[in-house]
Amino acid sequence: MCTAPGSRAFLEVGGRHYRRCEHCHCTFVRPDQRPSAEAELAEYRRHHNDAQDPGYRRHLAQLATPLLQRLPPAQSGLDYGCGPGPALAGMLREAGHAVALYDPFFQPDAGALAQRYDFITCTEVAEHFHHPADEFLRLNRLLRPGGWLGLMTRFQTDDARFAQWHYRRDPTHVVFYREATLRWLAEHHGWACEIPAPNVALMYKPVL
Ligand SMILES: [Zn+2]
Repeated sequence: MCTAPGSRAFLEVGGRHYRRCEHCHCTFVRPDQRPSAEAELAEYRRHHNDAQDPGYRRHLAQLATPLLQRLPPAQSGLDYGCGPGPALAGMLREAGHAVALYDPFFQPDAGALAQRYDFITCTEVAEHFHHPADEFLRLNRLLRPGGWLGLMTRFQTDDARFAQWHYRRDPTHVVFYREATLRWLAEHHGWACEIPAPNVALMYKPVL
């Protein structure tokens, strides 16, 4: 995550080895144990979220509601890692914003990565990042000064429950962020960080 040297072995569960960075406090799957692209795609096809499902929309509203409260009208955004059924983009469009889509598997549109945006959403995506430091550099580059980056991922809290944690059990989840990790990330990129709800971080990129 922070690319600092000196992570330590944290836990081994069922042959899967997790490491912990003492600098940014992220926990990650040992790099040689990350799933292949084929295994990832097979797993994503099994977990297709229905864009019209009210429960799923309520879930996404945990990020959409506080983000919309902070956005001026008619902004231009990107849903990074939108997946096969871009429900969040639909909700943000209903609120009057333009939303481009990018997903390495389902919307591999290089053109979407050649623009800059007033806001970027990244929901249930960052835990899949194989190279999180590079991904966040890219997101910072895609974000205009004065823009917002909205992240939603389950924050890792209790180490004693990590082995049993449902979020850990998904084989495509390879990096887990503590609130402290996200605050480190914000400081590293010069963003202001707000945590408006559990598992939601809103990063503001200041105008210099
Ligand atoms: Zn780190």
